[in-house]
Amino acid sequence: MKPGWERPQAGALFVVSGASGSGKTTLLKRLFERVAGLQFSVSATTRSIRPGETDGVEYQFVDVPAFQRLQDQGELLEFAEVYGRYYGTPRKPVERALGLGLSVVLDIDVQGARQVRRSHPGNVSIFILPPGVEAIRERLVARGTDSPEVIARRVREAGEQLSACGEYDYLVMNDDLDTATRVIEGIFLAELSRTARRTHWVRAFSS
Ligand code: 5GP
Repeated sequence: MKPGWERPQAGALFVVSGASGSGKTTLLKRLFERVAGLQFSVSATTRSIRPGETDGVEYQFVDVPAFQRLQDQGELLEFAEVYGRYYGTPRKPVERALGLGLSVVLDIDVQGARQVRRSHPGNVSIFILPPGVEAIRERLVARGTDSPEVIARRVREAGEQLSACGEYDYLVMNDDLDTATRVIEGIFLAELSRTARRTHWVRAFSS
């Protein structure tokens, strides 16, 4: 494949975090429609499947013993307990994609982002901010997929996630979806345009 716009010489490992209800999923969906050559990392989780989700697409849904096996066998790049459930990034697909020069997007929480910062120092991290904590509650209620208890817990824990936003390379304020889409798209395009990722263009144009 000829290295073109969508295929840099060296891919990037993007980490995207944001409290539940920050609109992160919608924003990522729009990002994938606009920026080519990105691979979404499908996490393993012990949480139950929601209506509209497909096993293997949004997540690989596993039980606790299966998750522990992945963890014990070193198959997870990072893992964390989030909202009382386990979530982890399968290592092999990420390393395979990066090895091929593709870029990978991890949608993970702040604990996972810290682990990736240590294991992959060149990663690019982005935090999606909601306009306020009340907006989180409203979005979770509107989504209609979680019980009132789960919503209350997620709103409480959202505060903890938000307080880590200063650790990230970029912040995207999602008060307006179109603006936030332009901002996140801009971050991805700029990062993929770094000279260090486009050495094939440097070679092509240097005599
Ligand atoms: P949800 O259950 O709403 O899909 O996700 C809950 C939270 O878990 C989100 O903040 C999401 O980013 C995080 N999450 C999803 N997959 C992973 C993962 O593989 N590792 C970590 N550390 N967090 C994850």
